[in-house]
Amino acid sequence: QAKVAGKNCYRFYSRVMDQAVERRVRMEQDLRGAWERGELSLAYQPVYRLDDGRLVGAEALLRWRHPEHGHVAPALFIDVAEQSGLIEAIGPQVLRAACMDARGWQEEAPAARQLFVSVNVSARQLRAGDLATQVEAVLRETGLPPSRLHVELTETAVIGDEARVSGLLARLRNSGVKVWLDDFGTGFSGLSHLRRVPVDGVKIDRSFIADVLRDPDDLALTTAIIAMAHSLGIQVVAEGVEKEGQYALLRERGCDMAQGYWLGQPMPDEEFRRLLA
Ligand code: C2E
Ligand code: MG
Ligand code: MG
Ligand code: MG
Repeated sequence: QAKVAGKNCYRFYSRVMDQAVERRVRMEQDLRGAWERGELSLAYQPVYRLDDGRLVGAEALLRWRHPEHGHVAPALFIDVAEQSGLIEAIGPQVLRAACMDARGWQEEAPAARQLFVSVNVSARQLRAGDLATQVEAVLRETGLPPSRLHVELTETAVIGDEARVSGLLARLRNSGVKVWLDDFGTGFSGLSHLRRVPVDGVKIDRSFIADVLRDPDDLALTTAIIAMAHSLGIQVVAEGVEKEGQYALLRERGCDMAQGYWLGQPMPDEEFRRLLA
């Protein structure tokens, strides 16, 4: 009986697995050339400084409008792009487009000259071509000052390759580009990384911020991350601020910057420019 059930169970699983694999394969095919067809675009989410509430920059977030399925969640297609290697083609396009847009902001208003654009770089991009050379070329091409470009890497992208990655990051930082560790706190070994990998700051993962007003453990961890970062001389951005109370608390705890739906949703470049005006 169990054997039969097991067999059916296996068959059921293999069918479900096939469907999942098939979906990924189809997504990969659809994603190929999506940038060239104009289906991919960037949304910008404003980042604010907490002490004086000023707008200081924006994070570039990739958006995919599929011709049939509409908006596809980045969590889904970024993973497919990463696994398939398509990110090696898309990543440089994102970098160039973000730097061009940020160069445009600078011309919008005198105050916008100080704004930075923050670009997510995946593990695969970090291991593929020469990121530092690529970044230098894009900065030269677009005329964006290096200090106005921030690069976000996740802890997991850095793991296992610290020696090479820290050399690369040192080169980026020497040219003036700022480097951030994204989703900080979710990777278990954050502290040891900060010793070996030179960064300008950390972005506290939004899973810590979500319950920071109710959960004493999340508050303790958030407070500890801020204190630790500051004692190392680096800055802190809080992600996922959805309520005024979270903003007030983070500000009171000395967090440097914040982004989140309460402060501003990711928006198209035209809309972000209106925010500057
Ligand atoms: P991330 O870099 O941690 O980006 C922050 C994510 O949090 C974004 O999700 C943003 O829309 C979302 N978010 C911002 N504020 C709030 C809030 O108040 N509440 C909640 N619940 N969420 C908020 P998104 O745009 O879906 O992107 C997901 C992830 O996909 C990003 O996480 C990043 O890891 C990746 N990604 C996005 N664009 C790119 C890209 O151009 N290149 C690469 N390599 N990865 C990207
Ligand atoms: Mg990010
Ligand atoms: Mg993040
Ligand atoms: Mg994330």
